[in-house]
Amino acid sequence: MVRNDDGFREPRIDSKKCISCGQCVRSCPLLNGKMAKRPSMCYAARSLDDDLRNRSSSGGVFGLLALETINNGGVVYGAAFDVRSQSVRHIRVDNIQNIDMLRGSKYVQSDISAAIFADLKSDVRQGVPVLFSGTPCQVAAIRSLLGDAIKGIILVDLVCHGVPSPTLFGKMLSEIKEGQNLDKIDTVTFRDKSKGWRNRELCIVSGGRNVVGVPSEIAYYGAFLDRLSIRKSCEDCMFNASRSGADITLGDFWGIEKVAPELDDNKGTSLVIINSEQGKKAFDRLRVEKKAIDIESATKANPSYWGKHRSNPRRSKFLALARIVTISRAYKETSKGFILFQLFAKVRRRLMSIVGRFPNNSGVGFLRCKSKRSV
Ligand SMILES: Cc1cc2nc3c(=O)[nH]c(=O)nc-3n(C[C@H](O)[C@H](O)[C@H](O)COP(=O)(O)OP(=O)(O)OC[C@H]3O[C@@H](n4cnc5c(N)ncnc54)[C@H](O)[C@@H]3O)c2cc1C
Ligand code: SF4
Ligand code: SF4
Repeated sequence: MVRNDDGFREPRIDSKKCISCGQCVRSCPLLNGKMAKRPSMCYAARSLDDDLRNRSSSGGVFGLLALETINNGGVVYGAAFDVRSQSVRHIRVDNIQNIDMLRGSKYVQSDISAAIFADLKSDVRQGVPVLFSGTPCQVAAIRSLLGDAIKGIILVDLVCHGVPSPTLFGKMLSEIKEGQNLDKIDTVTFRDKSKGWRNRELCIVSGGRNVVGVPSEIAYYGAFLDRLSIRKSCEDCMFNASRSGADITLGDFWGIEKVAPELDDNKGTSLVIINSEQGKKAFDRLRVEKKAIDIESATKANPSYWGKHRSNPRRSKFLALARIVTISRAYKETSKGFILFQLFAKVRRRLMSIVGRFPNNSGVGFLRCKSKRSV
């Protein structure tokens, strides 16, 4: 795996070492992709434990699945912030205390090392119950690589907006450390709920001190939501809409206030999409408040599920600038005149949808208003 110019890790073949065995072609999730299938059930759900919900991005369903797995003698694989390397990577957790490290969305590409993949293979071979959680493309890759051995694993993926580059994430942390004179960052919470679930906030803690509101942090989040820092391949995602082969897909239940207001207290409600019998059994075991909702109504305010991602034409400009100037400067420069453009695109889209030429969620256009963004 090597880093490309934008800072994303991607596979490269060393032609001097390649023996043309064809294994990469046989196991490539892109070449062996699945057709979109209709999920069997869809729910709005939330954990009965408010504290657990508060520490999760949405309704805490992932935390409950992880708890259930470990209580049954199993292990959980998921993304965690690693203080030593100051980066996000997949880890293996086999005790309840460490589930906290996996909780919460990290808006950056998570690294799955060869060592972690070897641990996963070994757990599966020994018949240990496994829960693996990741983005849909990671789940599809794990499925492809493990082949038939996958049967014992519960695979959980996320409704996915796309991932920013680890290099940009590292740069944000370095800028904060330099600007604030800090040695290291201890925790990064992308979805701090102090001001409510809808008011998404990045919260960075160092030495017990909360460093909210720093320009690099605001620009990093803005660039992610505006799709300026998203990996190129996320613009045409092949794994959303339950195509990853995951047993369960989790997301935020945006629009819950319209569909099931009784489950909305602004502390987080999960969108739970059941894709398999194994997923149904695992979800049925959890103690949650839930309501079955049809998939169209459930995803109406969440275009990411269907992969209705809009590319941002300024993405390359932003990433090129962010290599040479600070993230906030790159964001400012890239966004110049953009608010007007966004407004124009939005009005145009609305007019087109009124006259029936385009569905309301097509075309280019990004809203700066946090609460309107479906991430
Ligand atoms: C990059 C990204 C984009 C997302 N985009 C959307 C969206 O557009 N719409 C939407 O409704 N939901 C989106 N989500 C999912 C949402 O934010 C919640 O993660 C999801 O609803 C599960 O919430 P929870 O409360 O059940 O559990 P949580 O405790 O919040 O879930 C944590 C789980 O997410 C996994 N995870 C966290 N970060 C990463 C990462 N970088 N790479 C791989 N796995 C990770 C962890 O392994 C853990 O299992 C996104 C998540 C990520 C990571
Ligand atoms: S898996 Fe086989 S064909 Fe693919 S790069 Fe490696 S050696 Fe070459
Ligand atoms: S948008 Fe698709 S390709 Fe990008 S990280 Fe998410 S699942 Fe992977």
